Amino acid sequence: MQKVFDVIIVGTGPAGLTGAVYTARAELSVLALRDPEGSNLEKVAFIGNYFGFPEGVKGPDLLRLGEKHATKYGALIKSEEVLSCKELSVLPAKEQKKFSGANIVVKTQRADYGAKALLIAAGMQIRSGGIENEFKYFGRGVAVCVACDGPFFKKKKVMIVGAGNLAANEAIELSQFTKDIVVNTHGEELKMDAEWEKRLREKKIPIVNKRVAGVHGNSWVEELTYMDGTSERFEGLFLALGTASATDFARSLGLEMDGNAIKVNSHGQTNLKNVWAAGDVTGAPRQIGKSVGDGVRAAINMIESLRGGHYVDHRET
Ligand SMILES: Cc1cc2nc3c(=O)[nH]c(=O)nc-3n(C[C@H](O)[C@H](O)[C@H](O)COP(=O)(O)OP(=O)(O)OC[C@H]3O[C@@H](n4cnc5c(N)ncnc54)[C@H](O)[C@@H]3O)c2cc1C
Repeated sequence: MQKVFDVIIVGTGPAGLTGAVYTARAELSVLALRDPEGSNLEKVAFIGNYFGFPEGVKGPDLLRLGEKHATKYGALIKSEEVLSCKELSVLPAKEQKKFSGANIVVKTQRADYGAKALLIAAGMQIRSGGIENEFKYFGRGVAVCVACDGPFFKKKKVMIVGAGNLAANEAIELSQFTKDIVVNTHGEELKMDAEWEKRLREKKIPIVNKRVAGVHGNSWVEELTYMDGTSERFEGLFLALGTASATDFARSLGLEMDGNAIKVNSHGQTNLKNVWAAGDVTGAPRQIGKSVGDGVRAAINMIESLRGGHYVDHRET
């Protein structure tokens, strides 16, 4: 098994797979790694806002197409969780010899690999509310993104679970589709800025604090139950508990962060010379289209960096 690759990509979602298509098509050796959870899109039953699919597309179908595309050009995709990434220069001399030619060493649950260039496209995990059936009803009344799924909730009664600015923002965005919205801090202290609280008040969106126990229904959400044994009719539940960072190992590389997002320049490059980042890990808007775009700009810059030369846009010539 090859130990040193031109490019290692952490993540096989839209950002990582786009990076893999571009770099493998440029005939670089590419290893793309994914953890058992996979992309957030594995759980998405219907994507209605991605270019080229007027009838919508299932998340897993889009991912399988992307994998087929990347492997067609020679990218190797492996299911191995990345545990850490380190610069070769900080490793003991013996290790440095083993990965000669690499700049970064990626440690997975099974093996260590060297990379000349690393693309971090590890996405952002959804923070669970610990609510019974919350993932079962994904795409059937439970959602995490108003920009993606808001239109499904027209004139429906919806609860936004979350105590911070994210919850307030989602509620306000959703108010263009329905006026029947409640923000529920779900047992947490309210931690949104006064400005966001004021905006909720102006929109007459109430804030309650009741721990949700479960979400129930048939083909769509119909009812929420509470820890106190009561229940209430609702037709929608948005999880807006903030996004837990999937980038802990990025911190181990000493990457500059902006909150829970990895900071990148206009080429998708991080503060480390041989490390790029793309997709949800680099921040909002956390959407497929933006992740694909990020993957493109990072891959082009990686190719330039590994090959030398400069990408010239046809309009600049
Ligand atoms: C319920 C839901 C509905 C959505 N609907 C839409 C929609 O309709 N339209 C839209 O544009 N966007 C939608 N989104 C957002 C969209 O899913 C993301 O913006 C997009 O998937 C981000 O792509 P990404 O490549 O950055 O990360 P992801 O697609 O999340 O992929 C992350 C990859 O990193 C891998 N990974 C993470 N950690 C490790 C590790 N330690 N080791 C190895 N691999 C690792 C994962 O296995 C995965 O392959 C939705 C999201 C959710 C949760």
